[in-house]
Amino acid sequence: MSHEVRIPPRGTPNWLPGVLAPDEEDVVSCVSCGLCLPHCPTFRVTGRETASPRGRIFAMRAVTEGRAEVDGEFATMMDECLACRACETACPSGVPFGRMIEAARAQVEARRPLPERTARRLGIGWVLGRPWAIGLMGTGLALSQATRLERLVPARFSRTAPRVGLRGLLRRIPDELGDGPTACVLTGCVMDVAFRDVQAATMRAVAGAGHRAVRGRPRGCCGALAMHHGHPEAAKAMARERIAEFEGADVVVVNAAGCSNHMKTYGHLLADDPEWGERAARVAARVRDLLELDLQPRTAERGAIAVHDACHHVNGQDMRAPLREVLRRAGARPVEIPDDGRCCGAAGLYSVLQPELSGDLRLQKARAIAASGATLVAVANPGCAIQIQNGLREIGAPVRVIHPAELI
Ligand code: SF4
Ligand code: SF4
Repeated sequence: MSHEVRIPPRGTPNWLPGVLAPDEEDVVSCVSCGLCLPHCPTFRVTGRETASPRGRIFAMRAVTEGRAEVDGEFATMMDECLACRACETACPSGVPFGRMIEAARAQVEARRPLPERTARRLGIGWVLGRPWAIGLMGTGLALSQATRLERLVPARFSRTAPRVGLRGLLRRIPDELGDGPTACVLTGCVMDVAFRDVQAATMRAVAGAGHRAVRGRPRGCCGALAMHHGHPEAAKAMARERIAEFEGADVVVVNAAGCSNHMKTYGHLLADDPEWGERAARVAARVRDLLELDLQPRTAERGAIAVHDACHHVNGQDMRAPLREVLRRAGARPVEIPDDGRCCGAAGLYSVLQPELSGDLRLQKARAIAASGATLVAVANPGCAIQIQNGLREIGAPVRVIHPAELI
């Protein structure tokens, strides 16, 4: 996706210095046909026009043209969006909803009350930008889960947190494996704390695909969460760190759909930065999702495995086939989940910030997976994996979530 980050000139309606806003041309490109509505998870759950893509674009246009303010109602409409971009894929007019919602969220964030704005900036920009803080949070989470202290944590957080086993946290991940062109593997934030087995499996998978797999250091976020939640400056700071880290690599391999999708847009994100623009574009061109490599899974008789498509694979990167192909190569029979590929409701911090809507989507997804009859479900994005495993646990379905790297 072209992902230009534009700050409107002074004097445009609802202008704030240095704050993004949806592009004027983008907001008028919607012809209000409504063909996207049946594809929008929040519209399907609520039936409200204000929770639909058409309604959200209508509101963005009113703000852009100065007929409405960025007020509480506008904030709710934008906050309730998953940014799953199913509407963008369905839209016959090519409306670039993904970049519009990111800009609209930046408008909303800039006008939140100071304490709320500071708390969000601290969580999204500060913690995720510091490897030691991510590690500390992971250790705290693992200890609270092991000692059942988590019962003291509000359900809104404990229900949506990943299960971090203490043993898993100590899992060693090789720093280097294999021969061939250098493939740096993104260490990331959540993956490196909650999915260390997957991280180790990813190193083996990359080496098996004919690369010298080198584990990226230090642990650090790609910035997708910050961008997704309306903090572009924090997202740019993290992007610069990752660019400096990966400039020497032939390929940059990413095993999380949301992160690979975001890192491919670094060139657009930093296009206006004279020092970083070209460097960002060079690194972005070398980013590959793990499923884009010529993976060589161990073939075995594995039976049926349900396939969950992360929105950032199908709507962001037009990647539906690769996950099914990896499963087939591994000797499994991919099984479609009977829910038209609807978003699972994870969407970054959505499960914490919008617990009711997210909970509805989590349960719908879990029930659809259980209805598929498979006992394993392949998921290639950490947010989806946490959300789906929690949903399956809630409904008591004996289905285990796996990352495709674990088959290799
Ligand atoms: S976003 Fe596209 S599909 Fe949806 S109402 Fe607008 S033009 Fe129609
Ligand atoms: S991004 Fe997803 S939740 Fe948001 S309007 Fe589009 S389809 Fe609906």
